[in-house]
Amino acid sequence: MTLHSMNNDPSAIVEADRAHVWHHLIQHKPFETVDPRIIVEGRGLRVWDIKGKEHLDAVSGAVWTVNVGYGRKRIADAVAAQLTKMCFFAGASGTIPGAQFAEALIDKMPGMSRVYYANSGSEANEKAFKMVRQIAHKHHGGKKHKILYRERDYHGTTIANLSAGGQAERNAHYGPFVPGFVAVPHCLEYRAQDGWSGEAYGERAANAIEEVILREGPDTVGALCLEPITAGGGIITPPRGYWERVQEICAKYDILLHIDEVVCGLGRTGAWFGYQQYGVKPDIVTMAKGVASGYAAISCCVTTEKVFSMFKDDSDHLGYFRDISTFGGCTAGPTAAIENMAIIEEENLLENSTRVGAYLKDSLNALMDRHPVIGDVRGLGLFAGAELVTDRDTKDPVNEKQVGAIVADCMAQGVIIGATNRSVPGFNNTLLFAPALIATRDDIDQICNAVSGAITRVLG
Ligand code: PLP
Repeated sequence: MTLHSMNNDPSAIVEADRAHVWHHLIQHKPFETVDPRIIVEGRGLRVWDIKGKEHLDAVSGAVWTVNVGYGRKRIADAVAAQLTKMCFFAGASGTIPGAQFAEALIDKMPGMSRVYYANSGSEANEKAFKMVRQIAHKHHGGKKHKILYRERDYHGTTIANLSAGGQAERNAHYGPFVPGFVAVPHCLEYRAQDGWSGEAYGERAANAIEEVILREGPDTVGALCLEPITAGGGIITPPRGYWERVQEICAKYDILLHIDEVVCGLGRTGAWFGYQQYGVKPDIVTMAKGVASGYAAISCCVTTEKVFSMFKDDSDHLGYFRDISTFGGCTAGPTAAIENMAIIEEENLLENSTRVGAYLKDSLNALMDRHPVIGDVRGLGLFAGAELVTDRDTKDPVNEKQVGAIVADCMAQGVIIGATNRSVPGFNNTLLFAPALIATRDDIDQICNAVSGAITRVLG
């Protein structure tokens, strides 16, 4: 068989997938009896599978990525034209779209200065960790090498990122991990830590970071890596007062603040970046998913000029950032990213994310009146979570099989929603919503009606 004589018959494609594709994040046993789902087409918020079924995608490509929605010919055309002209050149050389997107991106990020290109969120975070380590060796005699991460946060799938991963079930069976990564407590007020009453919760949670720094020794801690809103760990919006204290603590101990915007970046929360919602001034920002909305693979590790200048000693043969990403030289990424950013701007999608996102949160709150199983609703912009509990007083989580059944029921109704995925043992109990930033109130109604019906059918 030549590639061009491949069988396009849907059942042959399903069989080829079943026989040879190792799918992400899923147990494969059920595929022995159930067909894998193959998505073939998308327009706006809707996708069609190989059996012709239409779905409203409330999670932007399963993992909160397609911020501008499906079927954007403008992005595809720009990428095709660029690839025809110059597809790839890596190493020390630049490319036209690489330079143009870097300038456009920095314009949206006051205080930031330099863009380092890579291909996935994990890779961008890995770059940031390496920068912190190199700064420690070069400027602090190797001492300030520890990187703090937060319980429930996730930064990626490589061994270093899992070492910085606050989600126990994602890490299980992949150790031993990289030394020098240290956890700080989560900041989910709904599940406030025992004995933390007294101070305002946000300040208390931030003070807990200071306690870890003092325990480890401030001269050993180089960076604090945090999601602006914890995503897969349960849509945890930071409590009031949290970020102000975090910023103070980082300044006090000369600790770099690395914000992981892989999920929240490019409009998800209603601002270009999640950290901008809280007035935070980071030293390093990583981003991936929404940068090109999945039309091409691209991620960025963005730093201030201060961080960049620490790699500028040309008297030291080890003084520059000795790192490369082969596909950081692929022009499809920045070309798609330029069009993606232009769409967000021209269609006022930050404003839509804010406005329709508020409607999403109101609608989920309204569902709380009908469904006592919804214990808490959290989120910002078109990014929301509904935590399910067996009892609002005890806050015991519903079991994950029930959550899975609700997600499956929505799927049967033609609405794709998400859930925290085995991130915290016993607490895989939050439904996730992250539709494309073009979502309308009608789309939100369809999503919430599906969820309401599913909860009734699954839990009574
Ligand atoms: N950071 C956060 C907050 C994420 O949610 C993810 C993935 O979901 C990553 C990093 C890793 O990104 P990638 O899967 O592109 O490596």
